[in-house]
Amino acid sequence: MKTEFSLAQLANPDIAEADKILRACVHCGFCTATCPTYVLLGDELDSPRGRIYLIKEMLEKDRAPTEAVVKHIDRCLSCLACMTTCPSGVNYMHLVDQARVRIERDYKRPLPERLLREALARVLPQPKLFRAAMRLARLARPLSALFLASQAPSAGPTLMRRLGAMLALAPGRLPKPGPAAGQVFATLGRRRGRVALLQGCAQQVLAPRINQAAINVLTRHGIEVVLVKDEQCCGALTHHLGRDDDALALARANVAAWSREVASGGLDAILVTTSGCGTVIKDYGYMLREDREFAAPAAKISQLAKDITEYLATIELTPSDGRHSDIVVAYHAACSLQHGQKITAIPKDLLSKNGFVVKDVPESHLCCGSAGTYNILQPDIATRLRDRKIANIATVKPDMIAAGNIGCMMQIAGGTSVPVVHTIELLDWATGGPRPGSN
Ligand code: SF4
Ligand code: SF4
Repeated sequence: MKTEFSLAQLANPDIAEADKILRACVHCGFCTATCPTYVLLGDELDSPRGRIYLIKEMLEKDRAPTEAVVKHIDRCLSCLACMTTCPSGVNYMHLVDQARVRIERDYKRPLPERLLREALARVLPQPKLFRAAMRLARLARPLSALFLASQAPSAGPTLMRRLGAMLALAPGRLPKPGPAAGQVFATLGRRRGRVALLQGCAQQVLAPRINQAAINVLTRHGIEVVLVKDEQCCGALTHHLGRDDDALALARANVAAWSREVASGGLDAILVTTSGCGTVIKDYGYMLREDREFAAPAAKISQLAKDITEYLATIELTPSDGRHSDIVVAYHAACSLQHGQKITAIPKDLLSKNGFVVKDVPESHLCCGSAGTYNILQPDIATRLRDRKIANIATVKPDMIAAGNIGCMMQIAGGTSVPVVHTIELLDWATGGPRPGSN
């Protein structure tokens, strides 16, 4: 794609990067076929190619974002299916991230929307605040249907519908908090390695059982696990809201905390059980590339970051006793894992090797609609995607659904009675732990 940035514009490293990305795009349109919003809405401006044009126009002309630009960028799930499909290697992720930052900086959203985004950015990354908010949401949950019915979906996502979607996502009961930061979990036998496990923010409130399962599997196989003190939310949620200063502050705090741990106790890897977080941590090196103090340590941290399944594939798991060999598992490929981190076969191979009957889900490249805060901010598109995903899952008649991302798990569980579990919970069960849902 031909671009027309001035030399003065190109002196800005972000614009120089955008220029490189835009020039790689050859307008072929292959990406449109796998873009969930284009598949649903059929509007070129809701496709990757259409959004790339909108972003190009906004950056080249150095214009404030228009309402139309904001509408179509907001509808993008950042699922990155387009990056998997693109034959020219266009880095849409870094381009749309830049567009979101520009929108946040230069576009004044209506007051209710600003307040909602502010609340999400403040509450979600803080487990204590998030826990308190979930308790309140549980009480208000009966109002969710009322809010959701307040306006026809075609009218667009109003504040009421967004609040309704948020309340509908609140779980009926909150589990007890999981292990506290600073704890070290010793191995059951000889120590073969040492890793940090990202504690996560929303996940540690909604499903501490996931990291407990990871700790069980790792320590059972000789890997010491540390929950690093002073670790923060990874910044993914604020990053996708375009609040770059907030996201970069969290990234710096994590790079500093993990670097201290590497220097003191040593770490073979930083493991992540929420693939949305893993994708962003693996990008810290890029996000902090212009930061003199943090660029090098951030790049090192990004190299150490691994999805839990990626790491487990490098160690020999104890043979299964076959208690679960008749369990049919529909594997839901989270976008952040399959498109963001390009991890596709590993989780399925681990499950198969450990005795489960693993089934691929038709249209597995399409997002389930969760996408961070997307299911709150764009509830109508998110629900259509969820229902489509659940219909596809139903075709393989599973006993359980496995996924590697808490956001997808909550989203899918909201529309089916089939148990939705994390891949690591099944691997824990297969290697001597409890059956998921039994404790
Ligand atoms: S597939 Fe890649 S090169 Fe083709 S239009 Fe989409 S982003 Fe551009
Ligand atoms: S990230 Fe997903 S929703 Fe956004 S343009 Fe790409 S494929 Fe479409």
